[in-house]
Amino acid sequence: MGTHVAGIQVHSAVPSTTDPQAPIWHASPNYGPRRDGLKPSLIVLHYTAMNSAQEALDRLCDPVHEVSAHYLIGGDGTLWHMVREEDRAWHAGAGEWSGQKDINSRSIGIELDNTGRHPFSDLQMRRLEQLLPQIMHRWSIRPYGVIGHSDMAPGRKFDPGPRFDWLRLERNKLAAPRGQNDGPLDAPMDQFRILAQSTGFSADVDDETLLSAVRLRYRPWATGPLQSADLVPLTARS
Ligand SMILES: [Zn+2]
Repeated sequence: MGTHVAGIQVHSAVPSTTDPQAPIWHASPNYGPRRDGLKPSLIVLHYTAMNSAQEALDRLCDPVHEVSAHYLIGGDGTLWHMVREEDRAWHAGAGEWSGQKDINSRSIGIELDNTGRHPFSDLQMRRLEQLLPQIMHRWSIRPYGVIGHSDMAPGRKFDPGPRFDWLRLERNKLAAPRGQNDGPLDAPMDQFRILAQSTGFSADVDDETLLSAVRLRYRPWATGPLQSADLVPLTARS
């Protein structure tokens, strides 16, 4: 017997030992202490770019590869927990956000099982939307602190990619809302850079790379030279 919620049968009185919401602990050896006493103030979202969650899990837990993340969410919504949140996982690499480096020491990393070439499943997004508020609450992380790998490593990383639904997270207050003010009529690059920097895109990259990174987050369909519409999401929300 169960009740139907959004098309899913929900059974009551499920023993906690088989709680489908509990993460599956699958320890990775790839971690260390956070440096300089830093605590997580960011959450970095990734896609795995691998063919299956199992393949990604194996790699993220293989000492040879020296990569990891705190969490992995499968396409079917399965949640694996690989590194304790207190510890420093190895997911972000070189980059910068809001003038801050050593992102691994400042963040929680979440990998989403996705090749980068297809949409993220609703089950996976729902699991992410369950997990994010818990982490945000534990570490007092604001929506502004939820970013993509490509936001902090422009030109070097492209995940979670053009298929990721940032607007969905924004609507749920799980990512900073994009600006909706009218942009200037023209679109000078120097003003774009200032707005991008004030939003957090502080990595030292050329104009084209910066534009690509900002578009990946807000307007992944956009092509060609800078347009005034590229400045709109970077304006303060009124
Ligand atoms: Zn990544």
